[in-house]
Amino acid sequence: MKIIYNSFIPFKGFSAMMLCGVIFARREHRPLSATTINHEAIHRAQARDCGGYLWFYLRYLWFWLRGLVKYRFDNKKAYHSIPFEREAYAYEYRLEYITTCRQTNAWKNFV
Ligand SMILES: [Zn+2]
Repeated sequence: MKIIYNSFIPFKGFSAMMLCGVIFARREHRPLSATTINHEAIHRAQARDCGGYLWFYLRYLWFWLRGLVKYRFDNKKAYHSIPFEREAYAYEYRLEYITTCRQTNAWKNFV
């Protein structure tokens, strides 16, 4: 995946995020670990499952808002309740996950 290092995206406190198939990473996290790159690649696979980036981001936003309500606006808990994040964190250390054993719509196992 293409990686663009910069000083603005994502917000401080995060190291990287995937936007439309490209990883944006903060300069202070250069070089990204293989684990982080794999995490973002899992998000790219999830976007494919959703039928495109727009649907992925809309669902992501929906799950995040749902988490905010459920956890009374605790953003950290809301973030970690997003099924897309739960799958990505569960498998980010398995670098072969996407190419060998990830099933289509695997993120639904984390809803
Ligand atoms: Zn993530």
